[in-house]
Amino acid sequence: MPDDRKTTEERQRMTDLERIRHSCAHVLATAILRIWPEAQFAAGPPVENGFYYDLELDHHISSDDFDEIEAEMKKIIKENQPFERIVVSRDEAIRLANEGQLGALGPRPMPSKFKLDILRGIPDEEEISLYRNGDFTDLCAGPHVMRTGNIGAFKLTSIASAYYKSDANNPQLQRVYGTAFKTRAELDHYFALLEEAKKRDHRKLGRELELFHIDEEVGPGLVLWKPKGAIVRKELQAFISEELGRQGYTEVFTPHIGKLTLFRTSGHYPYYRDSQFPPLIEPETLARFAEEGCSCAELSNRLMKGEIEGYLLKPMNCPMHIKIYASSQHSYRDLPVRLAEFGTVYRWEQSGELGGMTRVRGFTQDDAHIFCTEEQVLGEIRGCLQLVLKILNTLGMNSYRVRVGLRDTDSSKYVGTSEQWDRAEDALRESAKNVGVPFSEEIGEAAFYGPKIDFVVKDVIGREWQLGTVQVDYNLPERFGLSYVASDNSARRPVMIHRAPFGSLERFCGVLIEHFGGSFPAWLAPEQVRVLPISEKHLEYGRSVSGHLLDRNIRASIDESSDKIGAKIRLAQLQKVPYMLVLGAREEQAGEVAVRSRKNGDEGAVSASNFVERIEMEVRERQRD
Ligand SMILES: [Zn+2]
Ligand SMILES: [Zn+2]
Repeated sequence: MPDDRKTTEERQRMTDLERIRHSCAHVLATAILRIWPEAQFAAGPPVENGFYYDLELDHHISSDDFDEIEAEMKKIIKENQPFERIVVSRDEAIRLANEGQLGALGPRPMPSKFKLDILRGIPDEEEISLYRNGDFTDLCAGPHVMRTGNIGAFKLTSIASAYYKSDANNPQLQRVYGTAFKTRAELDHYFALLEEAKKRDHRKLGRELELFHIDEEVGPGLVLWKPKGAIVRKELQAFISEELGRQGYTEVFTPHIGKLTLFRTSGHYPYYRDSQFPPLIEPETLARFAEEGCSCAELSNRLMKGEIEGYLLKPMNCPMHIKIYASSQHSYRDLPVRLAEFGTVYRWEQSGELGGMTRVRGFTQDDAHIFCTEEQVLGEIRGCLQLVLKILNTLGMNSYRVRVGLRDTDSSKYVGTSEQWDRAEDALRESAKNVGVPFSEEIGEAAFYGPKIDFVVKDVIGREWQLGTVQVDYNLPERFGLSYVASDNSARRPVMIHRAPFGSLERFCGVLIEHFGGSFPAWLAPEQVRVLPISEKHLEYGRSVSGHLLDRNIRASIDESSDKIGAKIRLAQLQKVPYMLVLGAREEQAGEVAVRSRKNGDEGAVSASNFVERIEMEVRERQRD
């Protein structure tokens, strides 16, 4: 039985895999009862990637018990018991529960208390069904597979505790998790992927490769980019900037704080105040209030009402870019104006969620705001999509899709007229269609000020990551009274497009670390080449080679330790350096370098200048391994 009551229709939508997994939960319960007949079962639904069953039992189940339980489950699957659906009257079901027969192998001295409680929650008009396999009978709406033998391959994965119905006032139960697949091969593939994901975890690699650090004393969710991580970020920024330049963007810089008035005009304050750091107050004002004995509640109230001025750590860059646009006159000939900034913003995320780079409290958006005419919207959105496509393809993220977030026409939370919304939504839909990327439309997913496109990319191991957005905005130009002079000399309102296709550099780098498993292509790698002299006799030659590389702006270093060459190679491999140049007597005499690449291993000797040419091209063209 699932935790939350689903409608009969919703249950019918269970996929084949979900049926297998839910059926496996029944098999798990059957096996546990064969070992501990007194177990009291609650709910056992399929979940993402598997299933669980909640139970109450004095014996504390641990992973040490898994072998025994799994062996019993295998027997039950081998017995190929049919799943039989039995419709019973409410009275009959209650009688069986009172006899301890539900979620059980037969009558027991204690009633099936959770099943009894679940029964009470079933609406009068709903049919009550039991499912039986072998001796095991459960209160269950189904659906199931035909027989236990249809469960191809399964594995118990973990154990946790959970309150009955997720309510801390209820008894605490043991939750046994497992997963099941149609075939053994699919199960193995799933665990291989999990293993791979663990190896690629950006928090782990970030530490091992010294890319970034999060320090409790600095604050949770505030990322310190270490020198090697900073190189990755700078290269990425340079790459994005280059593409922005090609598309006619101009870069700007804006401060990290601004007056509350600005964010009142934009609507970011107090509308989104719960997700912002509290305002900063001028020292004089603060001192005066302290003298007057003003309470914190009073202070915050007066800030909110706008009775006193303060500053806000900026939660968004938009208002600053708007002020740049508004600071000069624009004619229709100047449009579109495209202002880009790697702009750092601050948001108050709940502390429970903060770990690596993908959820943070301060981050630098690859932000830009486009001010254009109504007619230019479609072309601009298409440009945004093409930019993203170019960058993702370069990074080898060839599989991506977009979600078009539309308004819910029944809701009143949106600003702007419905004609404006229709036009903006059409533009987004059209652009996605024209660029030819797979897209889905999602009702109710728009921002309050305009519809949007979200980017979702798939990495090399098939996981999906949500990146940034493109949003059309008819609201802020209105609030700030923006205008341009049209060809007939009238003043018109520009349309604004917000776009941060990769979300933030923190998040994007986190995703890239996992995508590449830390093995960045040469152009992004913090260290591109490591020179490895076989012995100290070749140190001089090694220094001249690495000096030559550094002169050509190639990020090279030399391992001058007295370690054996094998150890030097292993270390460089561990640190995922794309190229090693091994230098011994033969190389020195011939003025060559023996190339060892991270990808292919030993590639033989070439002249130092040949190697430089090769890596220069690789970096210039931003090639992948
Ligand atoms: Zn069931
Ligand atoms: Zn914006």
